[in-house]
Amino acid sequence: MADPDTLNDLSILQSYLKALLADQHPDLPSFSGPEWEPILRHLRSVQTYLTVTRQSMSDRQALYDEVKQRLTENQKRLYHTEDQLRQNKEKLAQNEYKVLEYMLALQHINLIQRRVQGLLNIDSLLSEVTALLTSHLCVHRGFFLKQDLQNQSMKVLSAIQCQFKEGERVDSAPLWQLLQTHDMAKAPEMTQEEIEVPILRLAEADGPIYGHAFQSALVVPVWIERELWGALFLFDKEERLRQGAREAFSQFSEIDELVLQNVVAFLQKDLWNAHLFEMATVDGLSQLYVRRYFESRLEDEIRRVRRHDGQFALLMIDIDHFKPFNDTYGHLLGDEVIQQVAATIKQQLRAGTDLPGRYGGEEMVVLLAETPPEGARVVAERIRKAVAELQISALASKPLPHVTVSIGVSGFPVHGEDLRSLQEAADQALYWAKGNGRNRVELYEVQRDSP
Ligand code: GH3
Ligand code: MG
Ligand code: MG
Repeated sequence: MADPDTLNDLSILQSYLKALLADQHPDLPSFSGPEWEPILRHLRSVQTYLTVTRQSMSDRQALYDEVKQRLTENQKRLYHTEDQLRQNKEKLAQNEYKVLEYMLALQHINLIQRRVQGLLNIDSLLSEVTALLTSHLCVHRGFFLKQDLQNQSMKVLSAIQCQFKEGERVDSAPLWQLLQTHDMAKAPEMTQEEIEVPILRLAEADGPIYGHAFQSALVVPVWIERELWGALFLFDKEERLRQGAREAFSQFSEIDELVLQNVVAFLQKDLWNAHLFEMATVDGLSQLYVRRYFESRLEDEIRRVRRHDGQFALLMIDIDHFKPFNDTYGHLLGDEVIQQVAATIKQQLRAGTDLPGRYGGEEMVVLLAETPPEGARVVAERIRKAVAELQISALASKPLPHVTVSIGVSGFPVHGEDLRSLQEAADQALYWAKGNGRNRVELYEVQRDSP
């Protein structure tokens, strides 16, 4: 049988060990008796060992936790950086696309500028610029309305995909109304350096313009010397592919406006030059070229045709019995006749190829490019007939009589190889036409001229 004291001591020891293993920091039991001394010493060192080990464990755990925490943070940072990298890449791609778009826009501006450089005819200039802009900006419909200062109407130029016909006349009131509504009815203040061209951007809600419905539109009024010369109308963009997405009739972009602004800025300068050129070379009354310009072009033609062994013809046209007409009906109606005869002559010519001029008074000339004398006689006959049939319209109280013309024809090189001899030959033929009863065409003949 065990000693009851020993049993008690054992149970104390047992609960102490339990508490020690459970990390509860128990107090060391107090046993009396020398036999316990070594045991208690061992127990004390075990307790110290356990405390130290546990402390080191918890230190390591703390370290571990800290490292783990740091790792998680780094991982998060990495994810964030990756995300940013992806966003930057996307932004870069977008910027690259933008840069490309800007480069393309510059190319368009440059190309249009080069294409219209040197064009000195106002209508051709406007038509060409409108056509080029609609094509470069992928515009669905477009046209230019050119202001006619004389009769307050507007002429349609370069009508592309729209209800208007080329050359059609329309009322200018709707344009003025539109400009007034958007506070753009005044010429913009502009210095020479500025290329600030005001552009009117419209949406579907603004309603149709001149009967043209649209989703998005750009209207650019063209002002020169504080005078409204007209306006460019562009409606909707064509369906196109952009970054893989198909955008039907999409809005005009900022870059489109940039192109427009630049093109219209130089168009204004070119138009002014064309206007000055017209003032210097076109006769105000007849709208035919003045003598000096006509003769310089005639000399150019002689030089050009000489190189290719080609030919051309000259018509000298004079109104018959014009002096008595003037005396009877007055100078103003006489002017009206000159104007309408000139317009009739122009109608019978190939635009851009043949060149009509006014030599002064009621004497007019025509250069028929690449035309033999016999061919020129046919054209002259056509002109003679058209003038004879012309019903002179004027605000006269009494009806005006018909007028007739006599025409002399000479050909290069058969009747003359320089300006003077060609003119003399045509003049001679005209003289024969007058002598032979007027309202006639005569072709110069070398034999007839010799004495
Ligand atoms: P012909 O059939 O022989 O040509 O007879 P004509 O009376 O027409 O004679 P000519 O060609 O010599 O006449 C020129 C006249 O044209 C003189 C003038 O009365 C008229 N004239 C010349 N320039 C102008 C002009 O700018 N306006 C007007 N109204 N008349 C002009
Ligand atoms: Mg005459
Ligand atoms: Mg005359």
